[in-house]
Amino acid sequence: MKPATVTFSKLVDKLQQHYGCPAPPPSTDPLELVIWENIAYLASDKRRAEAFATLKQTIGTRPEQILAAKHSALAASGKAGILPDVSAEKLLSIAKIAFEEFDSDLRSVLKTPLPQAKKALKRFPSIGDPGAEKILLLTRSYPVMALDSNGLRVLCRVGFAEEQKNYSATYRLVQDAIHEQLPRDYDSLIRAHQLLRQHGQELCKRSKPLCTQCPVREGCDYARKV
Ligand code: SF4
Repeated sequence: MKPATVTFSKLVDKLQQHYGCPAPPPSTDPLELVIWENIAYLASDKRRAEAFATLKQTIGTRPEQILAAKHSALAASGKAGILPDVSAEKLLSIAKIAFEEFDSDLRSVLKTPLPQAKKALKRFPSIGDPGAEKILLLTRSYPVMALDSNGLRVLCRVGFAEEQKNYSATYRLVQDAIHEQLPRDYDSLIRAHQLLRQHGQELCKRSKPLCTQCPVREGCDYARKV
């Protein structure tokens, strides 16, 4: 595959010109970020934020607080998603793992070598390699270019790598393709993560991307082909 015709930094700069400065991450605490991923199944960011705020106000995000809560109260905070009972079970599971295996504090495990830190985070529900990398980035523990599915789709369409049948294979191909072009500082990496995600949600949607409105269409492989 030919290299992308736009550089990674130019792509992110154009996205920022279009969308403005991205919103800050929902939290910088690793346990809260694990909870954020699990609190409301298949909910929008807005609904997820509402569920997260409800949990913080009514129960709290400490493992001991979640373990002491009634199942119905946990399910009430997960109502923003489509499976509140499943979300409640996941919150209990997160709290149990954090309490029993990490003494209720994930910060110390983030200081361990990268493979060990990722392995620890992947003990939690819904956290695979991409999720673990996102938490390591947003907590400023390791300067890794975490990508969610939206960001990954944007980079594939622009032309950094070809999408594979296997998500992990695509993720690694894209990571390899952008590796040499990545900024090294946390602010730039977090900005790129947030903007690529926003672009995948708003214009470069999974089906029917809105290419005519896209600020990066001139450097995009997908737009050239359609
Ligand atoms: S031109 Fe279309 S496919 Fe390319 S990045 Fe923009 S929205 Fe996505």
